Amino acid sequence: MKKILGKSVLLLIAVLLAVQVPFIYRRYKIGQLSNKIASLNADRATRETPGYTEYKGVMHAHTSLGGHSTGTFEELIKAANDNGLNFVAMTEHYDLNYDTSALGLNGVYGKTLFVNGQEVDASDGGRYLLFPGSPESASFGKLDSKALMEKIHAEGRLAVNNYPERKTSDNTDFDGMEVYSLHINAKRSNPFTAIFDVIWSFPTYPELTYATYFRRNDDYLRRYDAVASQKRLLLTAGADAHSNKGYYLIADDEGNRHFGFKIDQYKVIFRLVRMHVLLESGTPLTRETLIEALRKGRAFAGFDILGDTSGFSFSADNGTEIRIMGGEIKLADGVKLNSFAPLKCRFVVYRNGVRLNESTVSNEYRIEVNEQGTYRVEAYLDDLGSPFDQAPWIVSNPIYVR
Ligand SMILES: [Zn+2]
Repeated sequence: MKKILGKSVLLLIAVLLAVQVPFIYRRYKIGQLSNKIASLNADRATRETPGYTEYKGVMHAHTSLGGHSTGTFEELIKAANDNGLNFVAMTEHYDLNYDTSALGLNGVYGKTLFVNGQEVDASDGGRYLLFPGSPESASFGKLDSKALMEKIHAEGRLAVNNYPERKTSDNTDFDGMEVYSLHINAKRSNPFTAIFDVIWSFPTYPELTYATYFRRNDDYLRRYDAVASQKRLLLTAGADAHSNKGYYLIADDEGNRHFGFKIDQYKVIFRLVRMHVLLESGTPLTRETLIEALRKGRAFAGFDILGDTSGFSFSADNGTEIRIMGGEIKLADGVKLNSFAPLKCRFVVYRNGVRLNESTVSNEYRIEVNEQGTYRVEAYLDDLGSPFDQAPWIVSNPIYVR
């Protein structure tokens, strides 16, 4: 009997160890990825978009102010400052008892501009990120999306539809759509794989462990392209940083935490996906100028942990006019679309959401188009291997050829 029990225990230990092997191998692969990223980034090309200054930041962040988060202002400000972010567009949840846009971060703290946005619901299930937030946000849930957008626009605010799959109405009066969110990406990941990655890879490579889960949100992009082929629409990627996924053996009400870890600290999340916004040179970065540049679509989403995307550009030239992302240009005798990225990558050009053409691996890609439409570009770092040949490094805002 003893012998059988001993054998069973040994067998169990052997099985448990064998199960770990693929995750130890994944840790080794992430180490290799780290080296590949370093060597890719050693060969950077730089170029500025003439007439514009680029600012990088994070959109969609929460603190404990709006619930569902344990994050403090202090942690968030430090993470934004330490990561060199020019801006953070906050999206506090609304509260029935107080105005989270008035009590939230708004203005420059250290080196970073904070915009007091909010995340709100409409009665038909529509979800929106508002910039700036509103003192009346708690009552917005009584309005359907159409009525809410009318009110938002009358007040000069910007509304970005997030969780686009949740929308139950056909209303598309919003100004933008969040086509990627780390939170959604994490929710769509395999929890079994994730648990062992947290044990084996996360302690050494927190950001890159996240990065191996990056996926292209095909369904969100399809929804975006369907609307953007009909009207101008800002494209954004969000962090949806909550700082609420921590697990501790010992924790108390004074905030002491021992023997545990947190997987979504702001300092980690703020390094993954960022928005880069272009302001006309000489324009100071303020809440108003940032929102205005976003409204004009002068922005792109960059998965900066794979390589700093600063310096990316996408422009159009019809022989008489030149336009950058968000711009409209006349078709005339044809339009040349120019894409440039600081790292060698594969550019894929889409027209009204349909893949039109793609480049070989290069810093630059030019194509001529002879049809009206909404054109945008995605860039891929194929050299990093799977999943990065399928998950974009950069997603631009469109240029509208009329
Ligand atoms: Zn959120």
